[in-house]
Amino acid sequence: MTRALALAGLLAGRPNAEREAAVADALASRGVPFVRHAFAIGESRGESFAVDLGSGDRVFVLCAHHDAVPGSPGANDNAAAVGILLELLERVPVPPGLRVRLLFTAAEELDYLGARAYVRDVGVSGVVGALSLELCGIGDSLVVWDAAEETPVTRAFRAALDALGLQADAGYHVVGRIPRFGSDHRAFAAAGVPAHGLTVVPAANADALRRFIFHPRWGALRFLLRRPAPFDTYHTPRDAVATLDPRALDLVGRALEAVIAEVG
Ligand SMILES: [Zn+2]
Repeated sequence: MTRALALAGLLAGRPNAEREAAVADALASRGVPFVRHAFAIGESRGESFAVDLGSGDRVFVLCAHHDAVPGSPGANDNAAAVGILLELLERVPVPPGLRVRLLFTAAEELDYLGARAYVRDVGVSGVVGALSLELCGIGDSLVVWDAAEETPVTRAFRAALDALGLQADAGYHVVGRIPRFGSDHRAFAAAGVPAHGLTVVPAANADALRRFIFHPRWGALRFLLRRPAPFDTYHTPRDAVATLDPRALDLVGRALEAVIAEVG
């Protein structure tokens, strides 16, 4: 999916205002109808963009935040995810009865402000599930996280990836609540929607990542010093487009297509 990678390149390395504008431009230049959701909370303001694919009453939300932390090119976090959704909207078939909402959020890095404002203002009527794409550009093993219990979304994910021939606990993982990290899906989860994060990681690092993420005695210092990929570049100046692997973006795109078919 070199196309998704090229689309990610429209955002990476740019300031947040330009990243936001690049998403709107990418949608407008394709003639894709989209809804703007502007918000201002305290000092923070931003604009999220929603694209609905299909026309059903049941809505399945896929989030990708377009902002980055200052000082980081924000390629894996989270231009890759934006590129994947922009590429997906050009080709994904949506089953009858379902609407897939691609939600490009602002200010995720400020405690999911854009997603929380969106849920507050637009609501979750008809929303049957949500996935937030985070760190989707490095690795070969898919992880659905913040999934302490099975939901319709985790079941669709498992069925979709089984059908793609991937193995549970190898090609894909479903894991519980992740400490320290979070993403836009938590705004939907707080409103009662089955909602989880979706990330791709190197399978070779699965055990190290498990220890890194879940080990209670791993404190802040070790967190900074010994981060396994993809967290070695996370929120750093090294999170550049050159580190992205087109195969990772392609895997996430194919998985999402299968999940959409399964949710439908
Ligand atoms: Zn992020």
